Amino acid sequence: MDKELILEKIKAQREYLEINPMLDYKKRIEALKKLYKNIKNMTPEINDALKKDLNKGEVETYMVEIGMVLSEISYMIKHCRKFSRPKRVPTPLAQFPSSSYRLPCAYGIVLIISPWNYPFMLAIEPLVDAICAGNSVIIKPSEHSPNTSKVIERLIATTFDPGHVTTVLGAVEECTFLLDQDLDYIFYTGSTRVGEIVMKKAAEHFTPVTLEMGGKSPCVIDETANLALAAKRIVFGKLLNCGQTCVAPDYIYCDEKVKDELIYELKRQIILQYTTDPISNPEYPRMVNQKQYDAMRSFIKDDKLIFGGKCSDEKLKIEPTILNASFDDEVMKEEIFGPIIPIVTFKDIDEAIKNINSLTKPLAFYIFSSSKENQNKFIDRCPFGGGCINDTIVHIATSNMGFGGLKQSGIGAYHGKVGFETFTHYKSILNKKTWLDLPMRYQPYNKFKAFLIRLFLR
Ligand code: NAD
Repeated sequence: MDKELILEKIKAQREYLEINPMLDYKKRIEALKKLYKNIKNMTPEINDALKKDLNKGEVETYMVEIGMVLSEISYMIKHCRKFSRPKRVPTPLAQFPSSSYRLPCAYGIVLIISPWNYPFMLAIEPLVDAICAGNSVIIKPSEHSPNTSKVIERLIATTFDPGHVTTVLGAVEECTFLLDQDLDYIFYTGSTRVGEIVMKKAAEHFTPVTLEMGGKSPCVIDETANLALAAKRIVFGKLLNCGQTCVAPDYIYCDEKVKDELIYELKRQIILQYTTDPISNPEYPRMVNQKQYDAMRSFIKDDKLIFGGKCSDEKLKIEPTILNASFDDEVMKEEIFGPIIPIVTFKDIDEAIKNINSLTKPLAFYIFSSSKENQNKFIDRCPFGGGCINDTIVHIATSNMGFGGLKQSGIGAYHGKVGFETFTHYKSILNKKTWLDLPMRYQPYNKFKAFLIRLFLR
């Protein structure tokens, strides 16, 4: 996109914010309702775009792209008024007579940079939180999911005043140009490598950031786990969007005593959920592009193969593939982001925790176990963004908890109230009354004033 056009869009948003510095909560709700209605109306177009970009089926698209966004909008419509109110807080006696409150204020222009893997949800869900908090927003969707990016552009153009929300389509050049423009908040979802670039750029202007990134999310299975159910839920979580999911269980780390039975159950579930020929299954998504396809293929080594391994160069599809693995293997060095399931085993829980913690802090963590003690051991001792006990992925499908990582897997969080707070600066305000002016803080000091100061401040 032309740079002059990008600058015009930013100018329009600055002018809009001058007229609406504290957008009334009723207008925010109105905007959210319009967004809800237009997403519903454009559902066939959104489905079509996701089919073209990633071969996502309609049910999966509704569940993880459209439905999640609609449910976040419903939640924010319900809570916007309450969240937007000033929050009264107690005032220390030393400040008598006065009252204090925290005033939720929008940052101004929020830049949302989104990736290709859930290209609709990961652009629109942060938008919902940012609008609810009263911001103007520029969305820069991913260049690798071009059909969805165009639908997002149309959705935004038909729903919002461009001063309120607009889009900039493009790739690295456009994104870099936007990052140079001293905007008021940056919300980025994507790889850790690019997250580092975004954070450095933000630091030049002291712009606050939220970074939603990825990592190697472990899926631990101990000897007490219900293996049939574990396999069912792991296959669901791992193969959703064909493994191209930031919170997908990246690798299985199981007690060596249950490995054989677990493999048997995993194979059974892959066939039950995706048939014996997933490549021909129209509901089974493909790799987003040749680069991603080649990266996945390179992990498949004959001497490690347990199950699957077939690929289609023409369709960019790869079968769900189970591999024997150890922490030294290439497949264990970086986030996988595809339908490859390495299985590593442990003998001892303390050793397992040590090995997990030797990798960077993951975005998600899953533990399958019937032992409360083991569940707590892993949950308490392994640092990670969020996760599930005896399930995968579903912890993100709620507006009642925040979602985000830590260190290399993310900084900050969003969804629901946490999302509102992310896009809000709280002004702390003390309103001092004028009918009394206690003298103790003013010079010249004396013993009595010193006594009072010590009395109040202890
Ligand atoms: P990516 O980092 O390649 O791209 C993300 C966005 O950054 C795109 O809009 C792209 O245009 C922009 N971008 C790319 N290179 C840039 C550069 N050099 N300078 C400025 N902008 C640049 O990420 P991706 O491949 O699109 O997404 C996959 C990654 O995202 C995975 O690592 C995954 O774990 C992570 N992810 C995280 C979450 C989460 O919620 N935490 C969700 C989805 C994906």
